[in-house]
Amino acid sequence: HTIVELTGIKVYRNRQLTLNIEQLSVAAGELVAVAGPNGAGKSTLLQVINMLLPYQQGVLKLFGRDISQTGREDARCNSSMMFQETLLVNGTVYDNVALPLNFRNYTQTEIEEQVAAALKNFHCQHLAERQAKQLSGGEVQRVGLARALVYQPKLLLLDEPFAALDTATRTAILGDLKQVAVANRITVLLVSHNFNDVLSFADRVVVLADGRMIQDDCPEVVLRRP
Ligand code: ADP
Ligand code: ADP
Repeated sequence: HTIVELTGIKVYRNRQLTLNIEQLSVAAGELVAVAGPNGAGKSTLLQVINMLLPYQQGVLKLFGRDISQTGREDARCNSSMMFQETLLVNGTVYDNVALPLNFRNYTQTEIEEQVAAALKNFHCQHLAERQAKQLSGGEVQRVGLARALVYQPKLLLLDEPFAALDTATRTAILGDLKQVAVANRITVLLVSHNFNDVLSFADRVVVLADGRMIQDDCPEVVLRRP
């Protein structure tokens, strides 16, 4: 099963060719790190896959379907994205994690069950009634992950959501995320600058430079190079 497939994708920003991907396929359940220097096009790649940014050439298939043919709504239900800053709304942790389910018209019983399961996955049950604005940085990102995955999307796009956290917190959260992703066969693309994170989390690393893919291999091979 191919979850993400880019073929001949070109994206221009300010008339500059910012992303130029000949071929990239990601299979179901793969945990892919996206690496490369600042300005390489990592965020651009994730935004294109999340359909936040249009491309000018090529074909993007999500879940086997060309998004220019099927429209976005189908794929949107099946994917979720998290950014460096997780914005929680005023209210409790429970309210925040329930939000995507409320939008999707789940029943009250379904909401209670799925929020509880999502909080448990990220060890946040004890935070359910806490006000979102009272959380620590690590707790915010745990709650952000619970919210991102509460509607059980099959593709998760992470644009450096843990960059501001200390090493121990980041390692713990990534460990929990890996467990959840593997157990539920969730495909993950993680933009990261951190070698330890990449080694512990990813089974594949895609390296970008000037908008092109210059490497695509397992972490041990990619990180051995200077
Ligand atoms: P990375 O995530 O690898 O740091 P980006 O995808 O953010 O790289 O940026 C790739 C290129 O696109 C850079 O040259 C950057 O200046 C440019 N760029 C990023 N965001 C915008 C934007 N909103 N408008 C125009 N150009 C942008
Ligand atoms: P902080 O930014 O406060 O260090 P953490 O992400 O480290 O946040 O932890 C958030 C909460 O989840 C803390 O109350 C912590 O005790 C709890 N926690 C973290 N990891 C686990 C785990 N693997 N099992 C149970 N509870 C955990």
